[in-house]
Amino acid sequence: MVQMSIVVPCYNESEVLGAFHDALVAALEPIGSAFEICYVDDGSRDATMAIIKDLAAADPRVRYTSFSRNFGKESAMLAGLRMSRGAAVVLMDADLQHPPEFIPRMLELHQHGYDQVVAQRDRANEGVLRTALCRAYYRLVRRCMNVEVVNGAGDFRLLSRRAVDSLLALPENNRFSKGLFSWIGFDTVSFTYENVQRAAGKSKWSGRHLLNYGIDGLISFNSRPLRLAIHTGLWLFLSALVYALWIIANVLLDGVDTPGYATLITAVVALSGIQLATLGVIGEYVGRIYDESKRRPHYVVRETDETATVLGPGLS
Ligand code: UDP
Ligand code: MG
Repeated sequence: MVQMSIVVPCYNESEVLGAFHDALVAALEPIGSAFEICYVDDGSRDATMAIIKDLAAADPRVRYTSFSRNFGKESAMLAGLRMSRGAAVVLMDADLQHPPEFIPRMLELHQHGYDQVVAQRDRANEGVLRTALCRAYYRLVRRCMNVEVVNGAGDFRLLSRRAVDSLLALPENNRFSKGLFSWIGFDTVSFTYENVQRAAGKSKWSGRHLLNYGIDGLISFNSRPLRLAIHTGLWLFLSALVYALWIIANVLLDGVDTPGYATLITAVVALSGIQLATLGVIGEYVGRIYDESKRRPHYVVRETDETATVLGPGLS
């Protein structure tokens, strides 16, 4: 019986993976419980897969799945959760930004009855702009979503078996884990650690990546942005109506007034801006519906170690 699974999504991590694995095993062995490490190779184009296979050959506690191409971290985490068999599952990054030393503490909190233990990083070593943007984003998210998403709470967390099972039972294709973790509920506890820099290699999240991820998060959770668009549209329409009445009254009282070009242009521009934004929001939802209706799998598996039978024949 495996007591603990460590799920690690890896994309082009050959520079750090060896060091990460050593640090992880060094942190896990003193705990003395049976563990497995589930590496998910997210279509890496460097030596990541070769390193994982070497690790698996040397240690039966190492299991792996690799994707046919890069499907993104969300899909990799999903595959890892699906292959995990432990009574507790820890999700963490391969770049040593999630220090393995905290795992014993997470396990201890789990043993005190918590289903989710979140290790939250502070944003000490990050750029000022990035920190400010993240803070603003989380404020917006909290306002728009029905679920609580915590600033700085990345994906470094421990989940109990029943929490993992409830996550896996969610059918949606567009997965925004930060929201899903909070949606499933259960007793959650978090602690903060000092942010560490990536040990080697570079971050896969460019500004554009982050912006898209942010939009995903906002849209995939509920229809509040859509409702906001409708409200704005209605209020604008009402104020335009009032303005029109005022103009008509003016014309009736004082006769025709020539200027007004500026007002017109302003109104046209403002309104078309709002319309475009609204259309964008609607399009986003329609796209989501289209995506969900295709029922495509989240990823395509290239290969797995022989223990990973749960994954089924290639697709899942
Ligand atoms: N990752 C992944 N697929 C991707 C991008 C990233 O599996 O398409 C993994 C990556 O290997 C790492 C984790 O997700 O283990 C976090 O990525 P990264 O360190 O680039 O993100 P950051 O820490 O900068 O947010
Ligand atoms: Mg990182």
